[in-house]
Amino acid sequence: MRPLQAVLAAIFLSGCATGLTGGHTAQTGHPASRLTVVGINDTHGALLAAKPERWARDFTSDLVGGADWFAGYLAAIRAEAKRNNAAVIVLDAGDMFQGTLISNAFKGKSVVDTYDALGVTAAAVGNHEFDFGIPVLEQRIREAHYPILLANAFYKGTRTRPKWAHPTALVELGGVKVGIIGLATVETPLVTNPLFVQDLEFAPGGPIAAQLADELHAQGATVVLVTAHAGPLSSTPPRPDSQSDQEAQKIAEACRGRIDGLVSGHNHTAVGPPRLTVAGIPIVQAGSRLTQFSVIDLDLDAAGHATAKHVNEGTEPRDGGPQLLAHTKRDGSPATWRGRPVTADATIAELIHGYDQQVAQLRETRLGSTEVALQKGGPDDLLANFAADALRSGAGGGLKAPYAFQNPGGLRIVEIPAGPISFGQIFDLSPFDNEEVIVTLKASDIRDSLESILRAGKGPLKVSGLTYAIDWSRHDPRRKISSEPAGSIVTEVVDLASGRQLCRTESCTQTKCQSACAAGEYPVAVTDFLANGGDGMELLKDKPRAVSKVLVRDILIAFVREHDPITAALLGSVKAGGLQRIRQQGQGTLEHE
Ligand SMILES: [Zn+2]
Repeated sequence: MRPLQAVLAAIFLSGCATGLTGGHTAQTGHPASRLTVVGINDTHGALLAAKPERWARDFTSDLVGGADWFAGYLAAIRAEAKRNNAAVIVLDAGDMFQGTLISNAFKGKSVVDTYDALGVTAAAVGNHEFDFGIPVLEQRIREAHYPILLANAFYKGTRTRPKWAHPTALVELGGVKVGIIGLATVETPLVTNPLFVQDLEFAPGGPIAAQLADELHAQGATVVLVTAHAGPLSSTPPRPDSQSDQEAQKIAEACRGRIDGLVSGHNHTAVGPPRLTVAGIPIVQAGSRLTQFSVIDLDLDAAGHATAKHVNEGTEPRDGGPQLLAHTKRDGSPATWRGRPVTADATIAELIHGYDQQVAQLRETRLGSTEVALQKGGPDDLLANFAADALRSGAGGGLKAPYAFQNPGGLRIVEIPAGPISFGQIFDLSPFDNEEVIVTLKASDIRDSLESILRAGKGPLKVSGLTYAIDWSRHDPRRKISSEPAGSIVTEVVDLASGRQLCRTESCTQTKCQSACAAGEYPVAVTDFLANGGDGMELLKDKPRAVSKVLVRDILIAFVREHDPITAALLGSVKAGGLQRIRQQGQGTLEHE
């Protein structure tokens, strides 16, 4: 399929002089009087429609999402634009590739082909774009007909970007020159396998974008947009030590008066209602997995400058929030975009189903079953218990260990319902090609690890073979978590099987805790992501280690095959008389990915 955009747009990557034609809107010959910016983020390989999340079930009982349906909405948006002398731009804020079999089996190529067919204008590099290694990312960047932009990554200690990191693009649409800047989150090295980005540093995007916006204006851009894999997350209370908290807001502040809109990502948040505007710049984000999209409409004067900004106007189910990628409404009537009926695009449907056919048999393969729903989160976190118990079990040729750690960000779905378990479900739970690593730790290291991830602003580590207590009540939210002394947050660690205490905190001052930890060394099964220092687990990097070379996903698969059916008792469910593995007191932190 030839995207409309390829005809209308001329894309100039920074430094390349491979620009093509300009153009006016086909209908009038006058420059566009409106620019419609469609924003998506955190697609995570979700090219196929899926069951709606709970909140969306009030609006539709049908499937939601799917690239073929997104194409249908884009067709409606483009039809509306044509009538209104408007131009349409589609921006993606990163984390396109990682997360589903239909994407990962092709290392993201299926996503690039689909985005090309959708007519995506430009995308940002998300942290998970590095998951297949930089050579694969480079290849995807070369293949894509849309620019995949990264302005704030440099070789360590320099201000030199890798040659594949194009910071900006200049696009001409409907006679209007639009500059686009792509940014990644500063916490990229924390949230992808650190080995893949070890040569790079990620600078705060705001000042860089401000300078690039000036350059784009100097090159004739009358509108400048930022697509940033950086989020509007704000935890309560705000974390003073988190670089990534409100990162998009900081970018907007730095770009005051220089940019016209910011498409954000990374937190999987649906922004609005209420709408979020910082320094006069609208910031949008539309959940994740291509189930929603955002729209910023810019009214343009004759010179192509934005005179008014409309954000998520007329969107459903909530005006001011992202548009749900619904197929039908609650009453079964067809979905509409601002009154226009929406249907799935047949060409895109054929493209994605072609890819899906290649992985369908594998995806549907039955591995085993579970008697009990494995749900993520809460005091009886059976999905986490399942993953952590499998990791230390030695299943599938993995190494056995008395304990295991599982970072919550590594578990990518929220539920495996009771019933049969397929390969596709385990794949979606654990799409990363992480390998198992056994690190040998002292009891105090175990306690310090459990605290490290919290100091990095992440959710608590899930565990197997252990229980532990988190006590936020000593923590003054105005202080940095990283400055709290060891033992002040994780106050007790206990061996689950024997009830023996591994560490216990007696008392703390602001600078030091009185705590006692057991002697001895303990093997702990982790993913190589954690062993290499991901999620703030720096301290694991130089511990003695044994490497099984077995994929964590293959361990999960073997565990399911060995325990058919999985029961509540097997996973130590609290409801089946098991112990709650993490006990929390006081105000916790938010989990984000
Ligand atoms: Zn991300």
